[in-house]
Amino acid sequence: MFVVKVGGSEGIDYDLFLKDLAGHRDFVLVHGGSNELNEISTKLGKPPVFVTSVSGFTSRLTDRETLDIFNMIYAGKMNKMLVEKLQQLGVNAVGLSGIDGRLLEGRQKRSLKVIENGRKKIIRGDLSGTIEKVNVDLLRLLLDNHYTPVITPPAISYESVAINVDGDRCAAEIAVALRAETLIILSNIPGLLKDPADESSLITRIPRAEIDRHIEEYAKGRMKKKLLAAKEALEGGVKRVILGDARVENQLSKAFQQQGTVIE
Ligand code: ADP
Repeated sequence: MFVVKVGGSEGIDYDLFLKDLAGHRDFVLVHGGSNELNEISTKLGKPPVFVTSVSGFTSRLTDRETLDIFNMIYAGKMNKMLVEKLQQLGVNAVGLSGIDGRLLEGRQKRSLKVIENGRKKIIRGDLSGTIEKVNVDLLRLLLDNHYTPVITPPAISYESVAINVDGDRCAAEIAVALRAETLIILSNIPGLLKDPADESSLITRIPRAEIDRHIEEYAKGRMKKKLLAAKEALEGGVKRVILGDARVENQLSKAFQQQGTVIE
């Protein structure tokens, strides 16, 4: 049993990735859609707004209108595209967002403490949060009956409001809940790079105790969340997390051969 997350950043080749994935059995797929969301929300006259928290993590501001477009892209276009392609490859995929059957439940953030132009600012009412519970029974129901879950944010708050949550951390929570051995996070980079502009500067191994140092020293922007997700997965009992590239062929298989950045 493994969990694989495929990102939504530019350059990812979903056909190559899915062809590779379809050769495997007993997995859960989690996906993103950030690039598509940025493009379409901009076309709709609602360009994305990102904020940086006081602890240095970047996130998307999510008001109701953004959440509606988020649903269109993540739970609509991206989710159904992946399910359709998996069905064409003979995988009986079922697409769900975290609000369906309360699959991913969590806490809405009461306020975001962000840095804007060098000054601290508090933002209230943002529709975002953190997953605390996974409805494992629902996942088991599907897996035990040979369906392959394809899962996307948003999650649902305890007050039953849809909340934007980070896809990598979502995959980590699912891996923990299913007691998966391996979590694979694929994006548009070979793994964690010492220098994000130099693809040959791949860091191939990170011992668990050194994740925080790598978050501070090397990861910029959204890469920080991938390492945070890896840390949460390992703390929850997942044996290894592998960061790999979804732009080229056989990446999943290569990740299983421990290519990319292996965190354990
Ligand atoms: P996805 O949407 O595929 O999950 P993200 O865009 O959230 O992926 O994160 C991947 C991005 O993180 C890369 O495209 C890269 O620009 C950025 N990044 C920042 N720091 C690093 C780093 N040290 N190594 C690799 N990528 C990094």
